Amino acid sequence: MINGRTKVYGIIGHPVAHSLSPLLHNRAFEARKENAVYLAFDVDPKELPAAVDSIKALGIRGLNITLPHKEQIMFYLDTAAQTVDKAIGAVNTLVIDKGLIMGFNTDQHGFLEDVREALRFEPKNKSVLLLGAGGSARAVAFGLLGAGVSEMTVLNRTIDRGEGFRDYLKSFFPECSITSVSTIADLHGRELDLLVNCTSCGMKKEDPYPVNPEVLDQCAAVYDLIYAPTETRLLQEAARRGKPAVNGLGMLIRQAVMAHRLWFPEAPKADLMALMAAAMKDALVKK
Ligand code: NDP
Repeated sequence: MINGRTKVYGIIGHPVAHSLSPLLHNRAFEARKENAVYLAFDVDPKELPAAVDSIKALGIRGLNITLPHKEQIMFYLDTAAQTVDKAIGAVNTLVIDKGLIMGFNTDQHGFLEDVREALRFEPKNKSVLLLGAGGSARAVAFGLLGAGVSEMTVLNRTIDRGEGFRDYLKSFFPECSITSVSTIADLHGRELDLLVNCTSCGMKKEDPYPVNPEVLDQCAAVYDLIYAPTETRLLQEAARRGKPAVNGLGMLIRQAVMAHRLWFPEAPKADLMALMAAAMKDALVKK
């Protein structure tokens, strides 16, 4: 029951009405009997400074940050808790404690956990083809390279951006082989352990493939960060070619579990996983 002591959490994005985060976190609050509520705040980019001012003023305890604010919010943090989150250049979770706003990126951990669990993919000494160069590509690349991937190839629609991203990654992981290509022909038929789609191409029904699907024959497994639709054309094609392939639903749940545990460190991880997975399943059935 909402009363004078209810703690407020939420998500800031634009648009944000489609977000599944309120469903996941409120289900967890309810089951764990936390006197807390999680709301969606649609904040236009020009209103972000005013919204940040109100976080402390209104006593909000924790927030998720989604598009298009994940990078811009970095300018308003009192502390980025981990150097690596600062390097990624994007945060998706805020913890507000003792008047300080701290920022974290739970996407990289959510992805790493899920790729290990769902695809049994252990990054050490593996080769990866990464599609995209945006915010999620940064989180995924830092996660994979930090966990021991030895060869990473970046392919981005805007070639200059892909090259800039490659150079940025090289400056943090000089010991790894990090290259960029502009077409799959530049891979010269090389065998790859994993293809990760970090582009938004595939979210709409009419979207083309984010990459020439012929490349799937060179890839042992496929991870697509997109979770709506649950099966993109890329995933359908991977399945048709007999490749193990998963969508981003597991990552979404795992990053939410991690965010929740930053706010409530005592909450058991296994319970949260089960609660949020059940909430997600209900939501998908209703769709
Ligand atoms: P950004 O806007 O930061 O980056 C988008 C990327 O997609 C860019 O590299 C862009 O290339 C590329 N792109 C867009 N359209 C096309 C196209 N038609 N063909 C090829 N490439 C294209 O987005 P994010 O990185 O934040 O998010 C990317 C996706 O990941 C989204 O679908 C998002 O929902 C998903 N995601 C899933 C999460 C999960 O928990 N499962 C967590 C975070 C994100 P260019 O540089 O040329 O514009």
